[in-house]
Amino acid sequence: MAARLLSGTETSKQIQAELLPQIEELKRAGVIPCLAAVLVGDNPASQIYVRNKMRACEKLGLHSEHITPPTSSTTAELVGLVQELNRRDDVDGILVQLPLPPQVDTQQVLLAVDPAKDVDGFHPMNVGALVSKRDALRPCTPAGVMELLRRHGIDPEGQHAVVIGRSDIVGKPLAFLLLHAHATVTLCHSRTRDLPAMARTADILVAAMGRTAYVTPEFVRPGATVIDVGINRIDDPALAEKLFARHPQRLEKFRQKDSALMGDVHPDVVEVAGALTPVPGGVGPLTIAMLMVNTVAAARMRRGQAAAAQRSGVAAAT
Ligand code: NDP
Repeated sequence: MAARLLSGTETSKQIQAELLPQIEELKRAGVIPCLAAVLVGDNPASQIYVRNKMRACEKLGLHSEHITPPTSSTTAELVGLVQELNRRDDVDGILVQLPLPPQVDTQQVLLAVDPAKDVDGFHPMNVGALVSKRDALRPCTPAGVMELLRRHGIDPEGQHAVVIGRSDIVGKPLAFLLLHAHATVTLCHSRTRDLPAMARTADILVAAMGRTAYVTPEFVRPGATVIDVGINRIDDPALAEKLFARHPQRLEKFRQKDSALMGDVHPDVVEVAGALTPVPGGVGPLTIAMLMVNTVAAARMRRGQAAAAQRSGVAAAT
């Protein structure tokens, strides 16, 4: 039987609709939350991500500012820019789109972001708060995965969650959020021995590796919940024919566009898993929804509505 598809698109719409009363309340107090996005250089994928984030702000009636320093920017210049945004009272959230150019010390730039405006949740203070289970701005993708599970009635408590990928922005923080939700967590990476066997022990399997269709049905225990975080573009017709051999509609779509988005999970996993996030339309839209949640929560916390923000936004992502 085919897996139940966990739609991130629908869940993302719900989460954003639930933000509207909070945005109205802020507006009545004369505040329109503002997200400033810093995009260095002309990486096409980053441009699309930032454009989608700006669009989401616009739809919710939030202010957004798109700042585009040149590719040649130095660490000192970007730190200066971030410090200026920290000082501005009208800016509630600051996101620095990664990756930064190679000459820039990414950690120094992220460290410069005021933790109260760190809507990506990457600042060490927010990371520490996450690890010790205190209210704080949570990284958007892991928080989005938790919301997706919660809103589809999948409770991690007592379950074995296997997360493949240990990055600072996805795998590691998600492992902590799952742990706080009382899952037993195994965090895998490129040195893990016999990854398919380890993955098959999972009740909840998360693939966050950046490897196209790597997680094949042999990684998946029948009935498991599979969360596909990966976003990879394929444009090789031979590869598409191989991957979509049993999925003619997806192959047809590929042929129409000459490319397709593909997760880290092989399309055939839909026949084994109990529940599965699609790509596109799974974790991606939730990342943006949680960025909006964080921006509104940051605006509320900065204006003394901390308790309310923690109840409705930040804490909800734990
Ligand atoms: P990183 O490249 O930072 O990390 C990848 C991780 O996967 C590493 O820990 C690496 O292990 C592990 N890994 C890679 N290959 C293997 C392998 N063969 N076996 C086991 N582990 C492996 O990636 P990110 O965490 O930034 O992103 C992961 C994916 O998620 C990407 O496709 C990215 O585009 C996508 N993404 C999607 C988002 C969304 O909104 N849906 C948001 C953010 C990312 P090691 O540490 O040992 O090298």
